[in-house]
Amino acid sequence: MPEEIAIIGGGPAGAAAAVALSKAGLRAAVYEAMDRLAVKPCGRAVPATSDLPLPIPRDVIIEPVRRAVLYVDGVKTVDVELSGAGYIVDKEELLEEWLALAGAEVHKSSRFNPFTGVVRAGGETREVKGGLLAGGVAFYGGEKILAVQALARSEGLKGLDGLYIYFDTGLLGYYWVFPYGDIAEVGVGGYADFEALRRLLERFVEGNELTRGARLTDLSGAPIAVGGLDLGTLKGLVKVGEAAGFVLPLTGEGIRPSVISGYYAGAALAKGDDPISALSSLPVARAVRVQRSILEAVKRMSQERRREFLMAMPAEVHEEVALGSLRTGRILRALASRPDLALKLIKYMGGGG
Ligand SMILES: Cc1cc2nc3c(=O)[nH]c(=O)nc-3n(C[C@H](O)[C@H](O)[C@H](O)COP(=O)(O)OP(=O)(O)OC[C@H]3O[C@@H](n4cnc5c(N)ncnc54)[C@H](O)[C@@H]3O)c2cc1C
Repeated sequence: MPEEIAIIGGGPAGAAAAVALSKAGLRAAVYEAMDRLAVKPCGRAVPATSDLPLPIPRDVIIEPVRRAVLYVDGVKTVDVELSGAGYIVDKEELLEEWLALAGAEVHKSSRFNPFTGVVRAGGETREVKGGLLAGGVAFYGGEKILAVQALARSEGLKGLDGLYIYFDTGLLGYYWVFPYGDIAEVGVGGYADFEALRRLLERFVEGNELTRGARLTDLSGAPIAVGGLDLGTLKGLVKVGEAAGFVLPLTGEGIRPSVISGYYAGAALAKGDDPISALSSLPVARAVRVQRSILEAVKRMSQERRREFLMAMPAEVHEEVALGSLRTGRILRALASRPDLALKLIKYMGGGG
């Protein structure tokens, strides 16, 4: 019987960690608070980048991303046809498949109590000593924004051909319209409260030519960790995924960073290495740090400056934002080729106006 390691949370980070542990001959016991996986609201868009340590099984792909369109304050900045750039996935099915692949012992409806360090599983109480904490945003100590989403149904949305993203420099966030089978998913995330975001989303749906007249159902919302990395432990458990801040602050993309962090923390744990230093040196950790610095600077700018800054970014940066594949190197190269922009940004990073 292989050694068993506890993982709190059966989201992307927890499931990926379970696979890494099983590859090293260890078994994961996953404790998930809900009675189903992937209950938390999520756009379910995953870019197909080469840094994903686990392949996405074909049968969980709901839509391949064939086109990406990006607007900044109503001005179209990107419209690209593509193939193989990413997917809209059935997240619950994806997590179930990865956990099955890992041969993990999955306990649903088993909430970990962070104050006592105890979980209840199958009628018995277990004390969790060591392992990974992949419980998501509830365990994150940094800055969070809110996002709300809903399913949208209308004749016009059937066969939607790509990801549509609408940046709003006033909100410092964006709206999205993603295909989801025969319907679409619409959402908005940014610096506003739930009620304000709900109203903004309804107004957006009525004003947008793709979604006008669509019927909205299944409205839900959740926070997103945008404050950068929050590495550490709680009750001896090493935080991974969104709990540790593995979300790209400029785009809110969290599935891929969480999968990467869970996987490599699991691998480090299995080898007897320090998972926190493994997490800290991941390329995606660097991307989170760079994006957080840029977000902080952009937050300090006036709306006019923000728009100017975003519009001056080269088309490739916009394209990668739209695809969710924005690479740190690309941002840094873009800034290097525009010293005027870089200087402005540095000024705002230092808190200047
Ligand atoms: C509206 C919205 C849309 C989004 N859209 C996208 C998108 O399109 N693409 C993308 O990449 N990212 C998106 N994100 C971000 C993404 O959903 C998360 O960053 C990602 O799911 C984080 O993975 P995780 O495994 O770290 O945490 P989670 O997915 O949050 O999983 C954590 C799990 O732990 C469980 N849990 C929590 N507390 C306990 C406890 N005490 N005991 C036991 N279990 C517990 C939870 O029930 C959950 O199942 C979106 C976020 C929001 C809010």
